[in-house]
Amino acid sequence: MSVGTLIFDILTIFPGLLDSPLNESIIRRARQNDKIRINVTDIRDFSVDKHTTTDDRPFGGGEGMVMKPEPLSAALAAVQEKNGAGRVILLSPQGRAYTQKVAEELSELSHLILVCGRYEGVDERFVQAYVHDAISVGDYILTGGELAAMIIVDSVTRLLPGVLGCAESASKDTFSRNLLKHPQYTRPRVFEGQDIPEVLLSGNHEAIEQYRFLESVRRTLERRPDLCRHVDFSKSEMKLLKKHGLYEKLAAVLAGQNE
Ligand code: SAM
Repeated sequence: MSVGTLIFDILTIFPGLLDSPLNESIIRRARQNDKIRINVTDIRDFSVDKHTTTDDRPFGGGEGMVMKPEPLSAALAAVQEKNGAGRVILLSPQGRAYTQKVAEELSELSHLILVCGRYEGVDERFVQAYVHDAISVGDYILTGGELAAMIIVDSVTRLLPGVLGCAESASKDTFSRNLLKHPQYTRPRVFEGQDIPEVLLSGNHEAIEQYRFLESVRRTLERRPDLCRHVDFSKSEMKLLKKHGLYEKLAAVLAGQNE
Protein backbone atom coordinates (compact mmCIF):
# COMPACT_ATOMS: atom_id res chain seq x y z
CA MET A 1 0.00 0.00 0.00
CA SER A 2 1.48 3.40 -0.93
CA VAL A 3 1.39 6.55 1.22
CA GLY A 4 -1.89 8.35 0.64
CA THR A 5 -3.92 5.22 -0.09
CA LEU A 6 -7.43 5.66 1.28
CA ILE A 7 -8.74 2.52 2.95
CA PHE A 8 -12.45 1.73 2.87
CA ASP A 9 -13.60 -1.04 5.18
CA ILE A 10 -17.20 -2.04 4.47
CA LEU A 11 -19.12 -4.11 7.03
CA THR A 12 -22.15 -5.88 5.58
CA ILE A 13 -24.16 -9.10 5.79
CA PHE A 14 -24.43 -9.13 1.97
CA PRO A 15 -20.85 -8.83 0.68
CA GLY A 16 -21.85 -10.22 -2.73
CA LEU A 17 -23.94 -7.11 -3.41
CA LEU A 18 -20.79 -5.03 -3.71
CA ASP A 19 -18.79 -7.31 -6.06
CA SER A 20 -19.55 -5.74 -9.40
CA PRO A 21 -19.65 -2.03 -8.53
CA LEU A 22 -16.28 -2.30 -6.80
CA ASN A 23 -14.68 -4.03 -9.76
CA GLU A 24 -15.55 -1.84 -12.72
CA SER A 25 -14.35 1.34 -14.36
CA ILE A 26 -12.79 4.13 -12.27
CA ILE A 27 -13.07 2.30 -8.94
CA ARG A 28 -11.30 -0.76 -10.35
CA ARG A 29 -8.54 1.44 -11.79
CA ALA A 30 -8.18 3.34 -8.49
CA ARG A 31 -7.77 0.01 -6.68
CA GLN A 32 -5.22 -1.23 -9.21
CA ASN A 33 -3.26 2.03 -8.86
CA ASP A 34 -3.30 1.80 -5.07
CA LYS A 35 -5.24 5.07 -4.70
CA ILE A 36 -7.79 3.18 -2.61
CA ARG A 37 -8.01 -0.17 -0.89
CA ILE A 38 -11.40 -1.74 -0.26
CA ASN A 39 -11.96 -4.54 2.24
CA VAL A 40 -15.42 -6.02 2.52
CA THR A 41 -16.11 -7.83 5.79
CA ASP A 42 -19.01 -10.21 6.23
CA ILE A 43 -20.59 -9.43 9.61
CA ARG A 44 -22.02 -12.96 9.62
CA ASP A 45 -18.49 -14.35 10.13
CA PHE A 46 -18.59 -12.70 13.57
CA SER A 47 -21.97 -14.01 14.77
CA VAL A 48 -21.84 -15.64 18.15
CA ASP A 49 -24.06 -18.70 17.56
CA LYS A 50 -23.99 -21.72 15.30
CA HIS A 51 -26.88 -20.40 13.18
CA THR A 52 -24.78 -17.34 12.26
CA THR A 53 -27.54 -15.05 13.50
CA THR A 54 -26.98 -11.34 12.99
CA ASP A 55 -30.47 -10.02 13.82
CA ASP A 56 -33.21 -10.53 16.36
CA ARG A 57 -36.70 -9.25 17.26
CA PRO A 58 -36.97 -5.79 18.78
CA PHE A 59 -37.44 -5.47 22.53
CA GLY A 60 -40.88 -3.97 23.16
CA GLY A 61 -42.33 -5.66 20.08
CA GLY A 62 -43.11 -4.10 16.74
CA GLU A 63 -42.29 -4.82 13.15
CA GLY A 64 -39.16 -6.28 11.63
CA MET A 65 -35.81 -7.34 13.01
CA VAL A 66 -32.88 -5.43 14.48
CA MET A 67 -29.17 -6.07 13.84
CA LYS A 68 -27.56 -7.51 16.93
CA PRO A 69 -24.73 -5.50 18.50
CA GLU A 70 -22.22 -8.31 19.24
CA PRO A 71 -21.46 -9.46 15.65
CA LEU A 72 -21.17 -5.80 14.65
CA SER A 73 -18.73 -4.91 17.44
CA ALA A 74 -16.67 -8.07 16.81
CA ALA A 75 -16.47 -7.34 13.06
CA LEU A 76 -15.48 -3.76 13.79
CA ALA A 77 -12.79 -4.83 16.28
CA ALA A 78 -11.33 -7.20 13.67
CA VAL A 79 -11.02 -4.53 10.96
CA GLN A 80 -9.69 -1.96 13.43
CA GLU A 81 -7.05 -4.37 14.64
CA LYS A 82 -5.94 -4.88 11.04
CA ASN A 83 -6.23 -1.36 9.61
CA GLY A 84 -6.45 1.04 12.57
CA ALA A 85 -9.25 2.99 14.22
CA GLY A 86 -10.58 4.89 11.18
CA ARG A 87 -13.75 6.95 11.10
CA VAL A 88 -16.71 4.67 11.80
CA ILE A 89 -19.64 5.75 9.65
CA LEU A 90 -23.09 4.23 9.93
CA LEU A 91 -25.21 4.45 6.80
CA SER A 92 -28.57 5.59 8.08
CA PRO A 93 -31.59 7.53 6.79
CA GLN A 94 -31.37 9.36 10.13
CA GLY A 95 -27.81 10.56 9.55
CA ARG A 96 -26.53 13.93 8.32
CA ALA A 97 -27.25 14.65 4.68
CA TYR A 98 -24.59 13.51 2.22
CA THR A 99 -23.43 16.28 -0.12
CA GLN A 100 -20.42 17.04 -2.28
CA LYS A 101 -19.02 18.98 0.67
CA VAL A 102 -19.20 15.89 2.88
CA ALA A 103 -17.58 13.84 0.08
CA GLU A 104 -14.73 16.38 0.02
CA GLU A 105 -14.41 16.17 3.81
CA LEU A 106 -14.21 12.36 3.70
CA SER A 107 -11.69 12.41 0.84
CA GLU A 108 -9.22 14.09 3.25
CA LEU A 109 -9.26 11.08 5.61
CA SER A 110 -7.16 7.95 5.35
CA HIS A 111 -9.50 5.24 6.64
CA LEU A 112 -13.30 5.03 6.46
CA ILE A 113 -15.24 2.18 8.05
CA LEU A 114 -18.71 2.01 6.51
CA VAL A 115 -21.28 0.03 8.48
CA CYS A 116 -24.26 -1.15 6.41
CA GLY A 117 -27.51 -1.60 8.28
CA ARG A 118 -30.33 -3.94 7.24
CA TYR A 119 -33.87 -4.70 8.42
CA GLU A 120 -35.08 -2.08 10.93
CA GLY A 121 -31.53 -0.91 11.51
CA VAL A 122 -28.82 -1.42 14.11
CA ASP A 123 -29.09 -1.88 17.90
CA GLU A 124 -28.72 1.61 19.37
CA ARG A 125 -26.10 0.50 21.90
CA PHE A 126 -23.68 -0.35 19.08
CA VAL A 127 -24.31 3.10 17.61
CA GLN A 128 -23.69 4.83 20.94
CA ALA A 129 -20.52 2.87 21.67
CA TYR A 130 -18.76 2.82 18.30
CA VAL A 131 -20.20 5.09 15.61
CA HIS A 132 -18.49 8.45 14.99
CA ASP A 133 -20.68 9.68 12.17
CA ALA A 134 -24.02 8.71 10.60
CA ILE A 135 -24.70 9.58 6.97
CA SER A 136 -27.91 9.57 4.93
CA VAL A 137 -27.73 9.55 1.14
CA GLY A 138 -31.20 11.03 0.78
CA ASP A 139 -34.67 11.34 2.19
CA TYR A 140 -35.86 7.89 1.14
CA ILE A 141 -35.52 4.41 2.59
CA LEU A 142 -33.20 1.85 1.02
CA THR A 143 -33.41 -1.84 1.83
CA GLY A 144 -29.88 -1.75 3.22
CA GLY A 145 -26.78 0.39 3.59
CA GLU A 146 -24.77 -1.28 0.79
CA LEU A 147 -25.90 1.02 -2.03
CA ALA A 148 -25.37 4.02 0.24
CA ALA A 149 -21.84 2.79 1.03
CA MET A 150 -21.18 2.46 -2.71
CA ILE A 151 -22.31 6.06 -3.22
CA ILE A 152 -19.73 7.16 -0.68
CA VAL A 153 -16.93 4.99 -2.11
CA ASP A 154 -17.65 6.23 -5.63
CA SER A 155 -18.04 9.93 -4.90
CA VAL A 156 -15.05 10.08 -2.53
CA THR A 157 -12.73 8.09 -4.80
CA ARG A 158 -13.24 10.39 -7.80
CA LEU A 159 -12.02 13.30 -5.67
CA LEU A 160 -8.66 11.70 -4.82
CA PRO A 161 -5.64 13.18 -6.62
CA GLY A 162 -4.71 11.22 -9.73
CA VAL A 163 -7.89 9.12 -9.87
CA LEU A 164 -9.59 10.99 -12.70
CA GLY A 165 -7.72 11.88 -15.85
CA CYS A 166 -8.06 15.36 -17.33
CA ALA A 167 -10.93 14.19 -19.50
CA GLU A 168 -12.93 13.24 -16.41
CA SER A 169 -11.86 16.07 -14.12
CA ALA A 170 -14.04 16.64 -11.05
CA SER A 171 -13.10 20.29 -10.63
CA LYS A 172 -15.81 21.56 -12.98
CA ASP A 173 -18.52 19.13 -11.97
CA THR A 174 -21.95 20.21 -10.82
CA PHE A 175 -21.75 21.27 -7.12
CA SER A 176 -18.00 21.98 -7.21
CA ARG A 177 -18.93 25.67 -6.97
CA ASN A 178 -22.62 25.22 -6.27
CA LEU A 179 -23.61 25.69 -9.90
CA LEU A 180 -25.14 22.98 -12.08
CA LYS A 181 -22.93 22.12 -15.03
CA HIS A 182 -23.72 23.64 -18.43
CA PRO A 183 -25.35 21.45 -21.14
CA GLN A 184 -22.99 19.24 -23.17
CA TYR A 185 -23.05 18.26 -26.85
CA THR A 186 -21.09 15.80 -28.96
CA ARG A 187 -21.25 14.48 -32.54
CA PRO A 188 -23.32 14.44 -34.71
CA ARG A 189 -23.70 18.17 -35.13
CA VAL A 190 -27.40 17.81 -36.02
CA PHE A 191 -29.53 15.27 -34.16
CA GLU A 192 -33.17 14.79 -35.16
CA GLY A 193 -33.24 18.30 -36.58
CA GLN A 194 -31.62 19.92 -33.51
CA ASP A 195 -28.39 21.81 -34.12
CA ILE A 196 -25.89 22.68 -31.41
CA PRO A 197 -25.32 26.26 -30.16
CA GLU A 198 -23.28 28.10 -32.79
CA VAL A 199 -20.78 29.49 -30.28
CA LEU A 200 -19.39 26.00 -29.61
CA LEU A 201 -18.09 25.88 -33.17
CA SER A 202 -16.55 29.36 -33.04
CA GLY A 203 -13.15 28.32 -31.71
CA ASN A 204 -13.36 31.42 -29.48
CA HIS A 205 -12.49 30.00 -26.09
CA GLU A 206 -13.47 33.10 -24.15
CA ALA A 207 -16.89 33.22 -25.82
CA ILE A 208 -17.36 29.50 -25.15
CA GLU A 209 -16.42 29.91 -21.49
CA GLN A 210 -18.89 32.82 -21.14
CA TYR A 211 -21.67 30.87 -22.86
CA ARG A 212 -21.07 27.90 -20.55
CA PHE A 213 -20.98 30.07 -17.44
CA LEU A 214 -24.27 31.77 -18.40
CA GLU A 215 -25.97 28.46 -19.20
CA SER A 216 -24.72 27.10 -15.91
CA VAL A 217 -26.23 30.01 -13.98
CA ARG A 218 -29.47 29.92 -16.02
CA ARG A 219 -29.88 26.20 -15.34
CA THR A 220 -29.13 26.58 -11.62
CA LEU A 221 -31.61 29.44 -11.28
CA GLU A 222 -34.29 27.35 -12.98
CA ARG A 223 -33.68 23.98 -11.37
CA ARG A 224 -31.88 24.60 -8.08
CA PRO A 225 -32.26 28.25 -7.06
CA ASP A 226 -31.36 27.23 -3.50
CA LEU A 227 -27.77 26.56 -4.62
CA CYS A 228 -27.28 30.09 -5.96
CA ARG A 229 -27.16 31.43 -2.44
CA HIS A 230 -23.84 29.67 -1.92
CA VAL A 231 -22.02 30.85 -5.04
CA ASP A 232 -19.37 33.55 -4.86
CA PHE A 233 -19.66 35.42 -8.14
CA SER A 234 -16.71 37.61 -9.13
CA LYS A 235 -17.22 41.23 -10.20
CA SER A 236 -16.72 40.36 -13.87
CA GLU A 237 -19.21 37.47 -13.59
CA MET A 238 -21.77 39.85 -12.06
CA LYS A 239 -21.24 42.22 -14.97
CA LEU A 240 -21.85 39.40 -17.40
CA LEU A 241 -25.03 38.35 -15.59
CA LYS A 242 -26.29 41.94 -15.79
CA LYS A 243 -25.50 42.15 -19.49
CA HIS A 244 -27.44 38.95 -20.20
CA GLY A 245 -30.47 39.71 -18.05
CA LEU A 246 -29.76 37.14 -15.35
CA TYR A 247 -28.80 39.51 -12.57
CA GLU A 248 -32.37 40.42 -11.57
CA LYS A 249 -33.43 36.80 -11.31
CA LEU A 250 -30.36 36.07 -9.21
CA ALA A 251 -31.03 39.09 -7.00
CA ALA A 252 -34.62 37.89 -6.47
CA VAL A 253 -33.36 34.45 -5.44
CA LEU A 254 -30.79 35.93 -3.10
CA ALA A 255 -33.49 38.12 -1.55
CA GLY A 256 -35.49 34.97 -0.88
CA GLN A 257 -38.33 35.79 -3.28
CA ASN A 258 -38.07 32.46 -5.08
CA GLU A 259 -38.37 30.13 -2.12
N1 SAM B 1 -36.37 1.42 9.97
C1 SAM B 1 -35.33 2.34 9.65
C2 SAM B 1 -35.84 3.77 9.83
O1 SAM B 1 -37.03 3.99 9.69
O2 SAM B 1 -35.02 4.68 10.13
C3 SAM B 1 -34.88 2.11 8.21
C4 SAM B 1 -34.11 0.87 8.04
S1 SAM B 1 -33.59 0.57 6.37
C5 SAM B 1 -34.88 -0.47 5.78
C6 SAM B 1 -32.27 -0.55 6.54
C7 SAM B 1 -30.88 0.06 6.44
O3 SAM B 1 -30.70 0.63 5.16
C8 SAM B 1 -30.54 1.16 7.40
O4 SAM B 1 -30.16 0.67 8.66
C9 SAM B 1 -29.41 1.87 6.70
O5 SAM B 1 -28.17 1.24 6.92
C10 SAM B 1 -29.78 1.69 5.24
N2 SAM B 1 -30.44 2.89 4.68
C11 SAM B 1 -31.74 3.01 4.31
N3 SAM B 1 -32.00 4.22 3.82
C12 SAM B 1 -30.85 4.91 3.84
C13 SAM B 1 -30.47 6.23 3.49
N4 SAM B 1 -31.35 7.09 2.99
N5 SAM B 1 -29.18 6.61 3.66
C14 SAM B 1 -28.27 5.75 4.18
N6 SAM B 1 -28.56 4.48 4.55
C15 SAM B 1 -29.82 4.06 4.40
